[in-house]
Amino acid sequence: MTQVDTRPSNFIRNIIDDDLKTGKHQSIQTRFPPEPNGYLHIGHAKSICLNFGIAKDYENATCNLRFDDTNPVKEDVDYVHAIAKDVAWLGFEWQGDIRYSSDYFEQIYNYAVELIENDKAYVCELNAEQTREYRGTLTCPGKDSPFRSRPVAESLDLFKRMRAGEFSEGSMMLRAKIDMASPNMKMRDPVIYRIRFAHHHQTGDKWCIYPMYDFTHCISDAIEGVTHSLCTLEFEDHRPLYDWVLANISIAPKPRQIEFSRLNLQYTLTSKRKLNALIEDKLVSGWDDPRMPTISGMRRRGYPATALREFSKRIGVTKQENTVELASLEACVREDLEANGPRAMAVLDPIKVIITNYDEDKSESLTAPVHPKDETMGTRSLPFSRELYIDRADFKEVGNKHYKRLKLNQEVRLRNAYVIRADDFKTDDAGNITEVYCTYDAGTLGKNPEDGRKVKGVIHWVDAKINKTAEFRVYDRLFLVDNPGAESDVNSVLNPDSLILKHGYVETNLAEAVAEKAYQFEREGYFCTDNKDSTAEHLVFNRTVALRATF
Ligand code: ATP
Ligand code: MG
Repeated sequence: MTQVDTRPSNFIRNIIDDDLKTGKHQSIQTRFPPEPNGYLHIGHAKSICLNFGIAKDYENATCNLRFDDTNPVKEDVDYVHAIAKDVAWLGFEWQGDIRYSSDYFEQIYNYAVELIENDKAYVCELNAEQTREYRGTLTCPGKDSPFRSRPVAESLDLFKRMRAGEFSEGSMMLRAKIDMASPNMKMRDPVIYRIRFAHHHQTGDKWCIYPMYDFTHCISDAIEGVTHSLCTLEFEDHRPLYDWVLANISIAPKPRQIEFSRLNLQYTLTSKRKLNALIEDKLVSGWDDPRMPTISGMRRRGYPATALREFSKRIGVTKQENTVELASLEACVREDLEANGPRAMAVLDPIKVIITNYDEDKSESLTAPVHPKDETMGTRSLPFSRELYIDRADFKEVGNKHYKRLKLNQEVRLRNAYVIRADDFKTDDAGNITEVYCTYDAGTLGKNPEDGRKVKGVIHWVDAKINKTAEFRVYDRLFLVDNPGAESDVNSVLNPDSLILKHGYVETNLAEAVAEKAYQFEREGYFCTDNKDSTAEHLVFNRTVALRATF
């Protein structure tokens, strides 16, 4: 029998296949290089699955986790920990220790010195405004800085003194000497070092000059022996600079940068900066708010890592910009949980049912499958007694023939239990139904009652005596518009119903539920125990996803 190859195929893997075939590389090395300035989101999950997925699928291939930490002002060690946790949770393992670009600051500094010595870089003293002016525009070439021709020895001396902290922020910078007339703005003598008197989360106060991203990234890749440096399309015009730096310093490995299109998802922001603004404006409770498209938010909401990996696989990797439907992410979650989520019963908007012909002192323990299609998951017991809770929407005094739930003088099956008939009900002063009086048929326990009676409707319930009270957080998408990233004011397009709170009851088995692991609450949707706010005294459940697509 031939083995079916389930590995994804895409243009990047095709390039790698060729590089292995031609012998350009014997082994493949990738890296995932987040900047620790926020939490990872669903877009990063795509990049993680791509980079670590290659390491997993190819023999002798590895993937590094490297923090791209050249901007100490915006970065924080808390983000480092959160990011590492998210990558591991997604199911991937980085090679060796966590790496930091800052591990290489000394080497990167030495390469900068080498560029100066070879007259390929110079210390420039133009201020920010002058620098902008000299750079020119897309249609107009730039002008050489008056400092461009300063002697090598002078630049060397100044650069060393920059490092020693002799000059103030903004007064000097190191620039690569490339071409002020290049049609590619990135090649117009880009800044490669700047002065920043900032404490760094890894290097402390050792440095007061920091290399820029474009100078750092390619060197870090080369130092680590990265063969294929995969990034999103906005870095396409950085590639000539990436290659220029490596061609002009004495480092042997020449990693290849390849760009792919970033993930855009309907109704979703995929920018750490914009997500951070939601937190600052207190529109969500934090990075791990279950409505956030962050990996930690999705985890808290109950999305399984397997569903996120499957989603990444389905969306593929190309160079075409597009927007993926939110429904396709939710479909992955739903399919996963339909197959793997244990079943349970919960009543989110309770009314009481009293079974008048059931003995007041009696209580029995019924048996139900944990999963109707997977016997290996075993069974659970359900207490049943004279008083139960059902959902308010599951009873009507009168209902037309399409209403298959409980109505007066009609029968319905209680899931995993008996057939009951509604005989009467009671209302409060406002006319709201408070109690429904029913009779049950003791001979109808089990799926195929022998009495041949046709009972169409099945409703869920929870015993009124033995249960747990619970808070339900019913989540929906955070934004009303397809592309919230295009809005100047996201507040105006927030979905006011992105979180609806409900209070009701769950079967007692759920007191043992593990946080983040979603169950199917029969007829209600998929829910998981909240990993922060749920306690033994106060159970809190997050709705992971609805049972069916609603839009
Ligand atoms: P953000 O704009 O959210 O801050 P970023 O690209 O600045 O994103 P980084 O921490 O620099 O965030 O990203 C780490 C890696 O993840 C990079 O290689 C980047 O290209 C990739 N990445 C970021 N966003 C997406 C996305 N939406 N789709 C695919 N890959 C992404
Ligand atoms: Mg970035």
